Amino acid sequence: MRIALNHFLFKIKAVESDECYCGEGSQTPRHILIQCPLYTDLRQNFLDKIRMTDLGDSTDYDAIVSHSQATRYVAEFLLQTGILGQSRHAEIELEPTGDAATSQDRLAGTGGEDAG
Ligand SMILES: [Zn+2]
Repeated sequence: MRIALNHFLFKIKAVESDECYCGEGSQTPRHILIQCPLYTDLRQNFLDKIRMTDLGDSTDYDAIVSHSQATRYVAEFLLQTGILGQSRHAEIELEPTGDAATSQDRLAGTGGEDAG
């Protein structure tokens, strides 16, 4: 089961009524990603990754969340902040970049190969 990032972001947006812990605004994805002083370190990391995409030094939230590769980093960032910790039911599966080697153990079928 895969959740589209847009949907994922939309769900986060649904909780934006709460004021952020920093007290400087609502806890919107935009605030968390671009503005919030609580996540400066994580943001550095995030922006480093963004810089490796063709977005470059952009901190344009709309550009970032509509960039397919960058949305991976957005999701990572938001997971790292822990603000999504409550929704453990949501399994976020992002498309592989193709470059990174990923072990797909999950593909193991239902064959009962169990040599005694
Ligand atoms: Zn904040």
